[in-house]
Amino acid sequence: MSSGFLSFFHKGSDEAASRGDDVVRIRFECIVQFLYYFTIALLFFFNGFMIPGVVACLSALVQISVFIRSYRATSRLARAVFLIVMFGVSVYYSGYFGMTRGFQYFMYLSLILILLETHISSDTKVFVCAGVILTAIILNALPLMNPREFPIEAGSNIEARLRLWNEMALAFNVVIVGLSYTRHQVEAERQLFLANQKLKLAADTDPLTRLPNRRAILEVLEEIDRDKDDNITIAIGDIDHFKMVNDTYGHDAGDEVLKNISAMIMRFMDKKGYCARWGGEEFLLVFSNTNGDEAYLMLDHFRRKIGETVTEYEGNKIQVTMTFGLEEHGFFQTTDKTIKDADEKLYTGKNTGRNKVVY
Ligand code: GH3
Ligand code: MG
Ligand code: MG
Repeated sequence: MSSGFLSFFHKGSDEAASRGDDVVRIRFECIVQFLYYFTIALLFFFNGFMIPGVVACLSALVQISVFIRSYRATSRLARAVFLIVMFGVSVYYSGYFGMTRGFQYFMYLSLILILLETHISSDTKVFVCAGVILTAIILNALPLMNPREFPIEAGSNIEARLRLWNEMALAFNVVIVGLSYTRHQVEAERQLFLANQKLKLAADTDPLTRLPNRRAILEVLEEIDRDKDDNITIAIGDIDHFKMVNDTYGHDAGDEVLKNISAMIMRFMDKKGYCARWGGEEFLLVFSNTNGDEAYLMLDHFRRKIGETVTEYEGNKIQVTMTFGLEEHGFFQTTDKTIKDADEKLYTGKNTGRNKVVY
């Protein structure tokens, strides 16, 4: 799917779509956070902030190890460690340097990441988020109640750099989270569409013959009625003396004949229109852009072919014939009426010797 550089991030992530995306997301975030912690560690060391520097170094190490572990450990654990480090370090720096240097952004980012987790219950989310917000309020309120100097001067060079760095890291994180979740959503919608298509196909297909079933062709007929499409011809066909096939050779042999005839009908109607298993051994054929005369010629030829076809089943050679009623669809008629007329012709055919197309 993805090649080169990106495939490295996708490796081992092809589980369920959502979990796979979470793994990829956490890998990108770990890299961003690693670079972020590593560079602010250098900034801290060069400016004499040894403890914050060590904290940043340790955080960088943890995030890179989360990245490495994500290729083996569960993505849930990786995300939890990532989140705890991001939140904890953000609280520490915000308390140490004040809530105006940009470190506080990562508290709120943690909030979003917690809310996006699907395996955490809503109650837990509310509880944890309340904790995060409370922490932010306390960190804001403490200096007001007990004013003190923060170690970095407002407007200084290092302050500007820290703010820039924090905002850049935040922006990258937001982009990664945003892209990951929209991708996830698009993929979920695609899966849903495919699943629906499969369900629709299953609901529209007769399981024995694999032909469209009555339900499916009724939809086609409805559309014909709606569009007032009058250049069509409809036929109903019924296998002659089919009960005798069952009685003579058994029900399974009858099924085999049905399957064979259905496959022939399917091939015959290919590019001519629609066909369906209308009932037991009855079939409905809808010829598109075809008048009655044209349909009669084609169908009568096909009827002869059926009569010559042999279905072999357990050593028996079974031959059946079919009778059809054919009716041209008129502009002022519903398909329902056309089918009724075709059905009457089918019965005429049955009563006058079978194995024929009555038109
Ligand atoms: P006709 O020429 O008048 O149509 O005679 P027929 O014997 O074909 O008609 P009838 O309505 O008396 O019998 C239809 C038979 O089709 C009875 C039923 O058991 C059989 N049938 C319907 N569906 C299936 C099926 O799925 N498999 C099998 N094996 N037989 C089926
Ligand atoms: Mg029959
Ligand atoms: Mg019948």
